[in-house]
Amino acid sequence: MYRFGLAGYPVAHSRSPEIFKAIFKISGTTGTYELFPIPEKEAFVEFVKNELQHLDGLNVTIPYKELAATLAEVKDSSVETSGAANLLFVKNNNIYGYNTDIYGFIKSLGGFRPATAAVIGTGGAARAVVVALDMLGTEKVYIHSRSPDKLEKFVQSLTPAVETLLINAFDLREEIDLVVNASPAGMHPNIDELPEGWELIKSLRRGGMAYDLIYNPARTKFLRAAEQLPIKTMNGLRMLVLQAAAAFEIVTGNRVDEQRLIQEIGAE
Ligand code: NAP
Repeated sequence: MYRFGLAGYPVAHSRSPEIFKAIFKISGTTGTYELFPIPEKEAFVEFVKNELQHLDGLNVTIPYKELAATLAEVKDSSVETSGAANLLFVKNNNIYGYNTDIYGFIKSLGGFRPATAAVIGTGGAARAVVVALDMLGTEKVYIHSRSPDKLEKFVQSLTPAVETLLINAFDLREEIDLVVNASPAGMHPNIDELPEGWELIKSLRRGGMAYDLIYNPARTKFLRAAEQLPIKTMNGLRMLVLQAAAAFEIVTGNRVDEQRLIQEIGAE
């Protein structure tokens, strides 16, 4: 019987319990998945110190992925390159950290390889996305941040290979292939919000893609604006499903039929 959980704030809207229920079923295992709403940074650190050892795996979400990376004593290369961890677990008395958002994002694109992209936000999810884009061979990634200081820190904290791809979105003067909303603007219950920088979708070439990492609601205001253009749209559900399957496999060694899982959750 496995025990998994999700720590962050807010977490009440999460579909991860439903996804893990399906993962346990499909993999022929049993387990529980608990939500741990933790509003304070200090409380998250305490939680990792005292409770992580009692779980098989802990998913970490907004706003603690960067903090989780610093708490990991053994960092997978996905955490080394991104500076963000969305999976923590204890093995041999050490805290291990992984970033399965990178895998989830790449796989969710289904073979789409954007040459140019823009990303809104400089948080934990944006870190995973820019590392994923680097792995996909994207040549330029325009970053939109609400704060010049945060943008500079974000760029400097990434590995030199990733850093050289990044350009301030203010300097965007060309058509691009992909725009990713990696901010929580528009997420339930703030469904009437558009992220600052949403207008970047107007630079998408015909057939390009607007991707919102948010999955609740399924069609955010950002995606509804994008639907007016001759482009593709995608929400964050498929990525969520794929990163969860990867996390389960890393922790338990059990493989999950991803296609069956995607169908079960309705993330086609
Ligand atoms: P985070 O670490 O808190 O970072 C959020 C980023 O968004 C920050 O850079 C923040 O900028 C920016 N931001 C906040 N409000 C904004 C607005 N109104 N306009 C423009 N930028 C804004 O959060 P995160 O962990 O990266 O998560 C971001 C989103 O991605 C969440 O909705 C999360 O649920 C989603 N996500 C989905 C998946 C999936 O599998 N589908 C995986 C990871 C994350 P400031 O620093 O200026 O506040």
